[in-house]
Amino acid sequence: MRIFQDVFSVFKKSELLFLESFRESEDIYTFLFEKKEDLTWKAGQHGLFNITHKKIKNPTRPFTVASAPAEKNIKVTTRISDNPSDFKKAMLELKPGMKMSMSGPVGSFYLKDNSPSLLIAGGIGITPFRSITKQIELEGDRSRDLIYLLYMDSKKPHLYKDELDGIADKTSISISYLESRSDLQKEIDKFTTSYGNNGKYFIAGPKSMVESISGYIKDKNVPKQNIKKDAFFGY
Ligand SMILES: Cc1cc2nc3c(=O)[nH]c(=O)nc-3n(C[C@H](O)[C@H](O)[C@H](O)COP(=O)(O)OP(=O)(O)OC[C@H]3O[C@@H](n4cnc5c(N)ncnc54)[C@H](O)[C@@H]3O)c2cc1C
Repeated sequence: MRIFQDVFSVFKKSELLFLESFRESEDIYTFLFEKKEDLTWKAGQHGLFNITHKKIKNPTRPFTVASAPAEKNIKVTTRISDNPSDFKKAMLELKPGMKMSMSGPVGSFYLKDNSPSLLIAGGIGITPFRSITKQIELEGDRSRDLIYLLYMDSKKPHLYKDELDGIADKTSISISYLESRSDLQKEIDKFTTSYGNNGKYFIAGPKSMVESISGYIKDKNVPKQNIKKDAFFGY
């Protein structure tokens, strides 16, 4: 069913007016676009973003919409290295008033029910969880009291840390900032021991990390359908 919604949704193209960009850290940038009233998404979904101000070879990339639907802007946060792709070079050229476009939103990476949920982010894979947790804060939904975010990154400070701490203060979401795979596995073990097959797992980040963590969780006899993955290729 989701696949039909995505096929339909992908034909919905929205023009995005670029507002501003800023550096979050050495190689992480955030881009903000105006949000038109008719453009909405479920927290955690992604869009297919297109470069439109010039011709480049591969003008489309999937990016999570890192802002919450209840926020005023469309936010994209991405890593841009010293030797960026043509796509990211074109993003860096954006000046206020210029445009990109977005097809979608697409994907099923969002919370569907009130099950205890473990959100697992590797590095830039925090983007869907920024949207999901921010939306819970803005909705003031205290009933969602069983959400744990495990955020692993080798770089410090963790991206969005101040903001996430603010969200944790205002909700009952619990956040652990981790630096190693073994610490991450210990936290996953605690969750599977407490919630077994009632728990839902959401994993986002570089493809290799997502696949290995998903394998680790499946080995604990968690059914495949309880595990949702957002695998970012290109990292
Ligand atoms: C659902 C989803 C959400 C994402 N959200 C974000 C986000 O919020 N922030 C973010 O920074 N990135 C996100 N990404 C990844 C993003 O789309 C880019 O792939 C990434 O930013 C690298 O882009 P690039 O232009 O720097 O490199 P690219 O030019 O895309 O290439 C980097 C490397 O990836 C390889 N590659 C490119 N396309 C594919 C493919 N389709 N399959 C396998 N390998 C491929 C290339 O061969 C190259 O080796 C997301 C990806 C997905 C699928």
